[in-house]
Amino acid sequence: MSTSTKYIIFTGGVVSSVGKGVTAAALGRTLKERGFRVAVQKLDPYINVDPGTMSPYQHGEVYVLDDGAETDLDLGHYERFIDIRLTRVSNFTSGQVYAEVIQKERHGDYLGGTIQVIPHVTNEIKRRIGLVAKSTGAEIVLVEVGGTVGDIESQPFLEALRQLRNEIGRENIFFVHVTWLPYIGATGELKTKPTQHSVAALRSIGISPNMIIARSDYPIPGDLVEKIALFCDVDKHAVVPMVTAPVLYEVPLLLEKAGVADYIVDKLGLRPTQKPDWKDWEKLVAEVQKPKPKVKIGLVGKYVELQDAYMSVREALKHAALANGVETEIAWIHSADLEKGKGLEILEEVDGILVPGGFGSRGIEGKILAARLAREKKIPYLGLCLGMQVMCIEFARHVLGHEDANSSEFDRASSYPVIDLMLDQRAVTDMGGTMRLGLYPCVLQKGTKAAAAYGVDQVNERHRHRFEFNNKYREEFEQAGMVFSGLSPDGNLVEIAEIGDHPYMLGSQFHPEFLSRPNRAHPLFIGLIKAAKEKAGYK
Ligand code: GLN
Repeated sequence: MSTSTKYIIFTGGVVSSVGKGVTAAALGRTLKERGFRVAVQKLDPYINVDPGTMSPYQHGEVYVLDDGAETDLDLGHYERFIDIRLTRVSNFTSGQVYAEVIQKERHGDYLGGTIQVIPHVTNEIKRRIGLVAKSTGAEIVLVEVGGTVGDIESQPFLEALRQLRNEIGRENIFFVHVTWLPYIGATGELKTKPTQHSVAALRSIGISPNMIIARSDYPIPGDLVEKIALFCDVDKHAVVPMVTAPVLYEVPLLLEKAGVADYIVDKLGLRPTQKPDWKDWEKLVAEVQKPKPKVKIGLVGKYVELQDAYMSVREALKHAALANGVETEIAWIHSADLEKGKGLEILEEVDGILVPGGFGSRGIEGKILAARLAREKKIPYLGLCLGMQVMCIEFARHVLGHEDANSSEFDRASSYPVIDLMLDQRAVTDMGGTMRLGLYPCVLQKGTKAAAAYGVDQVNERHRHRFEFNNKYREEFEQAGMVFSGLSPDGNLVEIAEIGDHPYMLGSQFHPEFLSRPNRAHPLFIGLIKAAKEKAGYK
């Protein structure tokens, strides 16, 4: 492994979901601001090969990269905060590591050796960590270990990182441990004991953290910082209290203020080539904090109980609202509820409707209902992937009169399969990693809302789906007022559909939410919020 690369490792202690991914992403930004080339990698301890086959209830959103890798949602934080484009080397799981080792064993590559976690599995982990610097040329690689210290699955990862430290030298690697301080209501105090225990667990593997970021929902008194430093054997200046930020995008500024990047850069012997310039970020955060008129967007999905399932969609809505000088209030509407007649009254009151991606038939009729309402009541609508498919099914049923219209994903016997499998998908039997995945070009058709929104002739967008608009029905749709405003360069695939006679009803076969950035909102989302704003009566 190249010793010119510096590594910053993020481990988690006490509980998960305390913002380890956001912290890593935000720190990445503070380093980029200093002129360093940074890359980020997430190691996921579970045995699935990737999250692509996991339920969003288990895992939250599946984040898709340019090269079609189906990855952890933390990669979305990395891309949004650091404003970079990652590739598949930036995320791997225990499943991938074991699959590789076992394949090599079957191939006979180990020449009769007994295959063990140390060294075979740990070597494969280190090889994959090394790929990031190799493929990106990054000077600093931030590596986030999923889960919390003490999880049985994460042990090989930590062991590999301990070995890595010895191989490249302590001066080239820095361990950040992100923990949580629980608040005891009865006595009104924050507790450090769980942090102490998690550090003890980490040290039992041979890793002493160089920094502790102590997260809490409450202000953290200075004596607690000193206590953590003493009990966990960490430099007092390297215990960073980090109270939950009301504005997510404030985190890089908070890390900057706390001197985190300066401390790490110094310890790793790095020399920044430029001074951080936070003007744009400060403006962004100030803009978020300003009171603004609200537009209400009804988000109709089937995983709405777990908002992490729509992480990038939620962020993209925020970005687009900011670009329009408004704030979005999301009404989370369960598509299955709509089928039972619940929640319709909320939908009738919103300024815009968004139907995100999804798989399987549960709640589909509810989504179709939402699309019908949007079309008939001229409520601005944006459909993402399944949301576009639903918009086309609704159009076929209620404008063209094909009552039986459906996607063959939900009804194989439909006499009007307006959404259908492409030929190359028919023979697929494995579910994992076999969809149309990643970046594909889309040519925008002149004079359409999509072309106006983007302001260019061609775009590249990220896909994750198996089914497509059925070309057999294109002409019939067009004659009735549907406009196919984005097509694959050969004209064969419908990538964007929109309704001509409507303020803004548009669906994309791809997932625009993955390319939205806090200060570069996605044009299709900007279009939705702009139309919603007009509907709400603000100009
Ligand atoms: N289930 C649909 C398909 O596979 C839509 C997928 C999605 O929304 N990501 O085509």
